[in-house]
Amino acid sequence: MEGRITEKLTAIVARSHSLDALLESAVALIAQELDADACSLFLLEPATSRLMLRASAGASSSERGLADAALAAAEGLAGLALTQMLPEAREGPSRSLLAVPMALRGQPIGVLVVQAAGRTPYAAADIQALFGIAAQMVGVVENARLLEALGRGEDLASPGARRYVRPDTGEEVVRGIAASPGVAIGAAVFRRAFPRGHAHAPRASDEATERARVRDAFERARNDVVSIQSSAARDLGEEHALIFASHLLMLADPALHDRVDRALSSGGTAAEAIGAALGEISDKLRATGDPYLRERVEDVDDLHGRLLGHLALQEAPASIRAQIVVSPRVAPSLIMEMKAHASRGIVAELGGETSHGVLLARSFGLPAVTGAEGVTDRVDAGDLVVVDGSQGIVVIRPTLGTLARYEEQARREDRRRTEYARFREQPATTADGTRVTLLANVAFGADIALARDNGAEGIGLYRTEFSFIVRDGFPTRDEQARIYRKAYDAFTGASITFRLLDLASDKFVSSCGPAASQGAFHGYRSIRVLFDYPHVLRDQVQGLALAAGPRPLRILVPMVTSLQELLRIQAMTARAIEGIGEGEYQRRPTFGAMIEVPGAVEIIEDLAPHVDFFSIGTNDLIQYSLVADREDARMAPARDPYHPAVLRMIRRAITAAHRAGKPVSVCGEMAARPDLAMALVALGADALSVAPAVIPELKQALASANLGRLAAGMDVVLQSRDGPALQTALACACGRPP
Ligand code: PEP
Ligand code: MG
Repeated sequence: MEGRITEKLTAIVARSHSLDALLESAVALIAQELDADACSLFLLEPATSRLMLRASAGASSSERGLADAALAAAEGLAGLALTQMLPEAREGPSRSLLAVPMALRGQPIGVLVVQAAGRTPYAAADIQALFGIAAQMVGVVENARLLEALGRGEDLASPGARRYVRPDTGEEVVRGIAASPGVAIGAAVFRRAFPRGHAHAPRASDEATERARVRDAFERARNDVVSIQSSAARDLGEEHALIFASHLLMLADPALHDRVDRALSSGGTAAEAIGAALGEISDKLRATGDPYLRERVEDVDDLHGRLLGHLALQEAPASIRAQIVVSPRVAPSLIMEMKAHASRGIVAELGGETSHGVLLARSFGLPAVTGAEGVTDRVDAGDLVVVDGSQGIVVIRPTLGTLARYEEQARREDRRRTEYARFREQPATTADGTRVTLLANVAFGADIALARDNGAEGIGLYRTEFSFIVRDGFPTRDEQARIYRKAYDAFTGASITFRLLDLASDKFVSSCGPAASQGAFHGYRSIRVLFDYPHVLRDQVQGLALAAGPRPLRILVPMVTSLQELLRIQAMTARAIEGIGEGEYQRRPTFGAMIEVPGAVEIIEDLAPHVDFFSIGTNDLIQYSLVADREDARMAPARDPYHPAVLRMIRRAITAAHRAGKPVSVCGEMAARPDLAMALVALGADALSVAPAVIPELKQALASANLGRLAAGMDVVLQSRDGPALQTALACACGRPP
């Protein structure tokens, strides 16, 4: 039966011109196919979270619509099914009803109800059949909704369809995660992947011309890398000058050129010859048992994308040089390249909103959408693409109307940023006079400058690992000292907190062994890696101590899960400092522990006597307490910062730390949301550390907050039973009812 319904639903979709018409026809079809007297469809309205009747039908054409009593019964049952997210069947005196919830990626979007008078109760087979239909209806409904909303230029932030195509214009919309806000418009270039369609375009010219195209693409790719390297060295720091060095090596490799020549001689196009040559290399790398070499396949794919991108741009008008990067994922090194190359925005298939590459994109103000499934197969190099990082929407080959709307949105966002900018220089103070300490999270020289420009009072979290990742190796002790010294130079006299290396799967240095590249979520990361590579810790600690010289040195230990680990790292740190020998350097660092796993929250009283301060990392605290891998786009709804468990844990941590007389800051992304930032301050956080660009916006939000009233209301807020309820309660407590 399901196959038949699918076919008929497809026909309905093809001939319907509005969502209402589509839904009316669909429910009539379902009633008929399930031999029900009536069928009704309720949809959850994203703006109000209320279940609204959107379509209803009787089975026979003489009975369109439902009687009031039947409708009321359906509505009651629909509400129950939605709350429990389970099918609900009810047998009344005169009729049987069956309701099944409709969900998109675990989020409820509506309920389908069928009812029949004077028949036996619905059986398991009926439930299964209606479930199957409901699942198909999810896609149909959400595609139609998205299409309509886009046509009206509406807010698309509600849960919606993954993608839809407007066949008449070729415009295509892909939905993903709103990872880094802002609108970017430009031509697609591929990184770490290559456009498949382009690779197989037929040969349009003779062999000599194809050879010239290959030469040109190689030359442009080489110039590309050289210019990225020099702007990386200039803007991000000389330690980043070697970025993409492996590309230069490959581009100069005579064996690669021979392979390309052979493929061209046997009749291949420029794109095919490049694909064949690089494909041969990546096949060989994949075939080795060596995980390190297998990792290099990504470099080969990356170069492949770069070369094909240049082939495509040879045919594109010069005016579309503004680039949107299309990639399987948002690697930190890619964001560095984008920054150095002034690319506009990025869209990626994988990755969550707190992946480390995404955090970098946010700090550089690059709009990003992640979790855009299938995007690398749907875009071709040179296609015009809109990245709407505020709503998690990607529009491929937009129509002129869509473009105009996004250009207007970009102008609106610019105006908003200008408004926030007024707050840069002002201290962060609430309306009732509480002074709040706002610090910056930084990773590179570039965001240290941003932190100063945006009015940060100091550096609350220096993620030191990024300098290692970008070069994919270890800077020497003295190189590190030079890098860290820049923070002291930029923030004279201010508090600067350096975190020890926190290597993880997306923050990975190959030389740390392949194991660290996998399964960071499972626990082999951070100080656990450092225990296995003590010389790495030694060089870093010595670099930090030398950079500090006579100035205070604050060292933050990431991923603390036990007292033994903390004491072991402290002992190793002390030994490293002793090992420096003569000279002027900081011998007595101040120690902090990160609280970013639920276990650490539990033992905070035991840790407190051994540290000077705590810093709560909500990105990891959320992923580990709610079991939602921060790299996995599918887990985005589960990584809910409003989940009551999160704020309740934070309150316990802050209370316990304060009881022991130790200050606590919060440095996860949660602190960058104005309502949650206010909640954290109301719970007693002594400082917030956020991406530099967010600081003016937070200052503006705090300026209108009544902290006394909010603090008094936090008990009620924390009693909320789920995320949406907590978000609403918090909005009310902040004096901004939703
Ligand atoms: C965190 O986990 O919240 C944190 C600040 O550290 P990172 O995001 O670098 O893991
Ligand atoms: Mg962390």
